Amino acid sequence: MIARDEKGMRELCERLCERYGVPRRKARGSVLDCLIGTILSQNTSSNNSSLAFRRLKEKFRSWDELAAAPTRSIASAIRVAGLSNIKAPRIKKIVRRVKEEKGSASLDFIRGWDAKKALDYLLSLDGVGLKTALCVLLFSCGKGVFPVDTHIMRISKRLGLIPQNASADAAHELLGKVVPSEIAYPLHLLMIRHGREVCHPRNPDCAECVLIQHCSFYHRTERRNT
Ligand code: SF4
Repeated sequence: MIARDEKGMRELCERLCERYGVPRRKARGSVLDCLIGTILSQNTSSNNSSLAFRRLKEKFRSWDELAAAPTRSIASAIRVAGLSNIKAPRIKKIVRRVKEEKGSASLDFIRGWDAKKALDYLLSLDGVGLKTALCVLLFSCGKGVFPVDTHIMRISKRLGLIPQNASADAAHELLGKVVPSEIAYPLHLLMIRHGREVCHPRNPDCAECVLIQHCSFYHRTERRNT
């Protein structure tokens, strides 16, 4: 078993780094770009959300321009990302609020805040949940926070890092306490890659897995089959 403590998380990160290499940080644009991109990515593929983001940027020269645009025009630009009738008013409301409060459509000021203050501000924006807010802090603000997506949730349960019945909030709390801030970025990306390539939701490819020795799920399944 991998222990749910800082040492265990470092070991997990090292194993995955040996398998996949160390992920490099990518430039993600402004904080508001990242937030809007993350909202677009909800319940769709990364190809569709990237296309929707590009269309939004082509249609509106700035987020200030988007704030003054009719909602239906925003929805038509992002249709490819799905749920456009929910995402468009949500994005417009957020941009308008930031513009009204801060004088311009930019969230870059939160980069200078500590993670807790920045998280509270993001969570105060309508329609921004914990995972979205943590993704923005991790990817565009360089904060050492640990968002838990569906792949990370599944792998963490299989490894016995969190209880089988843990909710998303509980998973964030339990893992957030033990993932050292300096490995939050690589560990997040590596676990997602591992979930996509090896630890599939159905029929995980355990024979190819570098975590097999530590996996409660694998050992339980093996015992049942022998
Ligand atoms: S051994 Fe199998 S179930 Fe366990 S982490 Fe690896 S792929 Fe997933």
